[in-house]
Amino acid sequence: MKVAVIPVTAYQQNSSLVWCPETKKGALIDPGGDLEKLQKAAEEKGVIIEKILLTHAHIDHAGGAADASSLFDAPIIGPHEGDNMLIEMMDMQSQMSGIPAKKFTPDQWLKDGDTVSVGNLQFDVLFCPGHTPGHLVFHAPKNNIAFVGDVLFQGSIGRTDLPGGDTQTLLNSIKTKLFPLNESTVVVSGHGPNTTIGNEKKSNPFLKG
Ligand SMILES: [Zn+2]
Ligand SMILES: [Zn+2]
Repeated sequence: MKVAVIPVTAYQQNSSLVWCPETKKGALIDPGGDLEKLQKAAEEKGVIIEKILLTHAHIDHAGGAADASSLFDAPIIGPHEGDNMLIEMMDMQSQMSGIPAKKFTPDQWLKDGDTVSVGNLQFDVLFCPGHTPGHLVFHAPKNNIAFVGDVLFQGSIGRTDLPGGDTQTLLNSIKTKLFPLNESTVVVSGHGPNTTIGNEKKSNPFLKG
């Protein structure tokens, strides 16, 4: 798997361009905005975007999904239906953040245990609510990498003070869905640097004990 992490919007959200080197087919994970940056990266790498994948429906992750879908003629896949209320609130999210966004209806909702293919790559879908009610993680076991959105960060965890957030639910998601993954799994977070499952198990102050 090839990965290019491209920070977008004023929130410096890590949008990921992922692609299969054999087929050059790729996906954009969380195209929150700054589509010209994402398009340029895809063109430079010669990647054909065939899917738009969403971890959750906060504007910095999903605000550019509608435009990306038309630009690349690619379906919007995810998040989990639990985030529908945040998609309904997209106009309000836009007003509050100043980030432009269009409302959309995902072509496919995802749930725990689903799989998504991109060329010859395969992602397992893990349902990890808590930061939002419909948050998903895309885990590629063969490539030892997980795109976790705002569930887990290096030394921190997602906010739970936004609509639909719940701290206990988030901690439970991390402990039951992410911590069982291989410790060397690379974690690509929605903001900030990459980490690994092992590092966070060892040193994340929010997850001790
Ligand atoms: Zn978020
Ligand atoms: Zn975010």
